[in-house]
Amino acid sequence: MDNMFSSEVESIEISGIRKFFNKVSKYEDALSLTLGQPDFPVPSKIKQSIIQAINDDKTRYTENAGIPELRDEICKFLSCQNLVYSKDNVIITVGGSEALYISFKALLNRGDKVLIPSIAYPAYNSIVNLMGACAIDYKLNEDFSIDIDSLEKLIKDENPKILVLSFPSNPTGAVINKIDLERLHKIILENDILVISDEIYSSICYEDYYSIASYKDIKDKIILISGFSKMFSMTGLRLGYLCASEKIIKNIIKVHQYNVSCAPSIVQYGVVTGLKYCMDDVDYMRDEFKKRRDLVYERLNAMGLKTNLPKGAFYIFPSIKKYKISSEKFCDKLLEQEKLAVVPGSAFGNGGEGYIRISYCCSEEVLTEALNRLERFIKSC
Ligand code: PMP
Repeated sequence: MDNMFSSEVESIEISGIRKFFNKVSKYEDALSLTLGQPDFPVPSKIKQSIIQAINDDKTRYTENAGIPELRDEICKFLSCQNLVYSKDNVIITVGGSEALYISFKALLNRGDKVLIPSIAYPAYNSIVNLMGACAIDYKLNEDFSIDIDSLEKLIKDENPKILVLSFPSNPTGAVINKIDLERLHKIILENDILVISDEIYSSICYEDYYSIASYKDIKDKIILISGFSKMFSMTGLRLGYLCASEKIIKNIIKVHQYNVSCAPSIVQYGVVTGLKYCMDDVDYMRDEFKKRRDLVYERLNAMGLKTNLPKGAFYIFPSIKKYKISSEKFCDKLLEQEKLAVVPGSAFGNGGEGYIRISYCCSEEVLTEALNRLERFIKSC
C-alpha cells in the first residue's frame, strides 16, 4: 500500500539514545552509560504503599486528572519551591513523556513554530514534528546557557507559538541562573508566547534551583512538566505530571483522557507516600549523584577532555571536537575497541555534534572502570 504511514510518523526516527543502547546488546561485557536510569531502588515506603494499594483493591480507573490526594501533595511540594498551584492546575500523567506529548498536542496546529534548545532531549523535536509543526533551534553559549540576545531576536523574527525550556538539562547538566531567568521573564511578559518548561530533574540540582513558573505575572503562559521517574528512581513505574492555568488544563485533559484515561492508580498512591515520607531518600540520591559527578568531572579534566561542570541532572557532556571525528564515529569506535557505550552528542540535535553524553547514574566502581576504558581509548585516538 502506498502512503501506509502518516508522513509525520515517517519524518521521525527512534531516538539516538535508544539506538545506541540497542547497539550495546551485541557486545558481551560492554559497559553502558547510555540511559538515564538511576541505579537506586525505589524507596521502600513507596514500594510498600504500592503493594498496599493493590491489596486494598485500589486498582480501578482514577479521575482523569489523577487522585486529588496526589494533586494536593504535588501542590504542597511545589509551594516549597515558590511555585503556587492548586489541584485543579495539575494533571497526573504516564511519565513526563506523556505530559510533553499531550501539552504539544493540545497547543499546536500544523505549521506552528516551536523554539527548542540546539542541544536538547530529543523528544521535543520529534513530538513537534509528529504534530506537523515546525521546530526551530535556538542557540546555546559555550557553557550551555541560553544565548538570550539571539533568542530574543528569534522570537521577534519568527513569531513562534511555544518556547521550550529544559533545566536542569538532559544532556548538558546546565541549570539557569537568576540573571538569565529575569531576562527571560521580561521577554515572555512582552511577547505573545507560551512556554513548556521541562523541569523533570529539578530534584537533582547541586545548587539553587530557579523555575520560570515562579513569576506570577506570566504563570498563565507556562506549562510546567515534571515527574517522578528520576526523583524517586522509578523510571518503569511511569508517573509524571504537568501544571498549567485552568484554561490550558481544560484542553490538555481532553487529549489525556483519549490517550490513557488516567495514570496507573497504584503508583499514584505510592507517590503520595513518597512526597510525604521519602524526601530524605531524594536528598540522599542527590548527594550520591553529586559525588559521582565530581568523580567523573575530575577524571575527564585530568584526561584532557574539556567539560563544563554539570549543575544538575546526572549527565555530563564533554567535548570531543579535538579528535576531529563525528560523535557517532567516536562512540562506535569506543564501543568496538573498549566495550564502553556512551551516547553521541548528535543524538541531541544540531548543536550536540562534537560532544558525547555520559550518564553517571551508576555505581562509582562502574564509573571508574568506564573512565579507565575511555582514557585508554582517547590515548589511542
Ligand atoms: N524530560 C527529560 C528532559 C528527560 O530526560 C526525560 C527522560 N529521560 C523525560 C522528560 C521523560 O521521562 P519520564 O517519561 O520517564 O517521566
